[in-house]
Amino acid sequence: MLDRRKFLKASALSASLLAIDKSGIAAVLPSTPLNSAAAKPIVISTWDFGIAANHDAWKVLSAGGRSLDAVEKGVQVPEADPKNQSVGYGGLPDRDGKVTLDACIMDDLGNCGSVAGLEHIVHPISVARMVMEKTPHVMLVGDGALQFALENGFKKTNLLTPESEKAWKEWLKTAKYEPVMNIENKLYDKAAPTKLPGNQYNHDTIGMLALDARGNLSGACTTSGMAFKLHGRVGDSPIIGAGLYVDNEVGGATSTGVGEEVIRNVGSFLVVELMRQGYAPEAACKEAVMRIIKKKPDIAKNIQVGFLALNKKGEYGAYAIQKGFSYAVCNAENQDLLIPGQSYY
Ligand code: ASP
Repeated sequence: MLDRRKFLKASALSASLLAIDKSGIAAVLPSTPLNSAAAKPIVISTWDFGIAANHDAWKVLSAGGRSLDAVEKGVQVPEADPKNQSVGYGGLPDRDGKVTLDACIMDDLGNCGSVAGLEHIVHPISVARMVMEKTPHVMLVGDGALQFALENGFKKTNLLTPESEKAWKEWLKTAKYEPVMNIENKLYDKAAPTKLPGNQYNHDTIGMLALDARGNLSGACTTSGMAFKLHGRVGDSPIIGAGLYVDNEVGGATSTGVGEEVIRNVGSFLVVELMRQGYAPEAACKEAVMRIIKKKPDIAKNIQVGFLALNKKGEYGAYAIQKGFSYAVCNAENQDLLIPGQSYY
């Protein structure tokens, strides 16, 4: 049952729900109360490309499948999309021109697997799952992760698309190592952000959380990381507790944005622990954001970090430092919702 405060919040949320149609134009959806404890199974994920990812996850969830299978299938969508320059195939390379991928996955039993700095493999999330299921370890990196993937049947692929190579060559002209992390502000400020140079598309991870019909939670997180990063740089996304954390008793959380600040604050673990203490998902995400701002206010005002959380009851929420963060929600009632996250600035 929703109490009055939650109902008002749900109505306010639903009034601002956005859907993205095929032309990429946002349209307002009819008002539908959301965020109800009864709305399960459910899958949520970061950014607008989460809509398509949720669709594939939903196929698994709606057929009664396991949340772990749902999140793996879901995040494979942006991983395989060459147009997505921040995840998987087509991701922007590091400063040496190498596409290096970070991913992790966590199930309802507390199992987890991760890969970092993985090259040449389209689906790092599936390698991470294999690390979880077939090894006694949690994390494999670099050449070792590649070797493991190839030994287990993954195919070697050139992940650097002509578009991303072009953006990298453009960046090389100045090779200015100055990550611009709050690009979505610019996207939202401009009416037609069609021609941003490559170095402005320098982040956006897909983090996905799902609750299945059995009430079990899993999560996945995958990215090509910060564009034109130092070779060997690892962000928060493959770090269990930073980019992703799931505790099936409580809920799950995931993050996007400047990974260094998320790692410093063990962000996703913090969000889950706050939910354990009784915080609602959005409030927990807000507190984690405030922790980053409080510790490093000068850095925080120029960067983006967003957290997304889903609790055991199917309630969800998100909070980011900068405006422009969005997340996609998919459940039995709605499959195409894009919700603007709350933000500090
Ligand atoms: N968190 C990712 C990283 O630091 C990038 C992002 O989500 O924008 O690698």
